[in-house]
Amino acid sequence: MQPQHTIRRYPATGIPLRQAPEGRQWTAGAGGQEGEGTFLPAAPPSRRRLLAGMAGGLVLMALRGKGRAGARPINEDGVPHAPLPRTLTPKRRDEEESAPAFSLVEEVEPWDGLLFLAGRHPRYPGASLDSLMGYSAADILETTDTDVMDAVLARHGPAALDALYQLIAAQVLAALARVYGGQPLVLALDAGHGGKPGVYHDPGSHGTEAQHARRTAAWIEVLAAGAPSVTVRRIYNDAIGDDFFLPPPNDRKGAAALTLRNIRGAMLAHEAADWNAAHAGAPVAVHVISVHFNAGSGGILVLHQGSTVAPEFQGRSVAFAREYVAATRPALNATGLLPYTLRLALGTGLSDDALLYEPAFRTSGINPYTGVDRSRLPRRYAMLQTSLMQRDYADGALRYHGLV
Ligand SMILES: [Zn+2]
Repeated sequence: MQPQHTIRRYPATGIPLRQAPEGRQWTAGAGGQEGEGTFLPAAPPSRRRLLAGMAGGLVLMALRGKGRAGARPINEDGVPHAPLPRTLTPKRRDEEESAPAFSLVEEVEPWDGLLFLAGRHPRYPGASLDSLMGYSAADILETTDTDVMDAVLARHGPAALDALYQLIAAQVLAALARVYGGQPLVLALDAGHGGKPGVYHDPGSHGTEAQHARRTAAWIEVLAAGAPSVTVRRIYNDAIGDDFFLPPPNDRKGAAALTLRNIRGAMLAHEAADWNAAHAGAPVAVHVISVHFNAGSGGILVLHQGSTVAPEFQGRSVAFAREYVAATRPALNATGLLPYTLRLALGTGLSDDALLYEPAFRTSGINPYTGVDRSRLPRRYAMLQTSLMQRDYADGALRYHGLV
């Protein structure tokens, strides 16, 4: 049985949707310019091996041994077949009037999203372009470098890799529990990169980051089924194209991917605000977690929000980041599975919403739809909800389609 589902397809406004030309192909990697991508340190990381005998965790050790004994077949993408339940048993409280129900926003299409931002989506009155900005607490996880996960698969097998996904997922939920206690929480869950092949697909670093992120996110969903205060909603969907039907070169599918995910998160925040307005004594919180893996950092890193969001959101974002880093790094190192001891990237394992790298290429010049000189905008991570580049992109899409 599916949870309650309140998103419907409109075109309530009767506005015709401009169609993109068929058959265009989009190259991967452009997402970096939009405010998320790989961290490129000045010096290569150390590759210090763990001493034999340091391994901790009997289960993980057993799994590692099993992986060595005989790896299971892997698919053509290099990721093991490890079936995970895609459809989760809905929580009973979803069906009760005493608790909020949240839409399956992963099904939201680009046109729904534009109507939302235009304030013309019937489900979300009062929404606007600014609904994209600072709507919740948020963190981006860069738990290990992607090549660490690839190395674990190559050396120890798919069961060991799966154990790491579970460990990371459990740490995410444990850190959220320490930040929020028993307060009802909607976890707006993003798995970085990916996307619909043929429209825009970005495999992420090493060609495998997106797959590791999806496996980790799936385990978060599985484990959250046992956490009564947490409702998980995906904000990514690889079956829906990240395309707001702008003509090239202004289509910028990497920006579209991040914008659509934030629209879905903002919809959840809108629903939470509706609930909270009527239930001041039992508020529900929203937290965005974007699962990534890094490149070249040599350590664990969480990107948290800065001072451009509300203090309560920044406080929860930073609190989560600290809790997660402090517990997850020793837990991963204790498995004995990693090819080297995970350090704290940047010395603390934390960084705020300012981009840590120079994009491979900058979006240059004036946005033809808004007149904004994009080269002057600050570079911030879109999934931390403070990117003025993203806001300007969405503004351009609204104007192009005549929605504002
Ligand atoms: Zn990434």
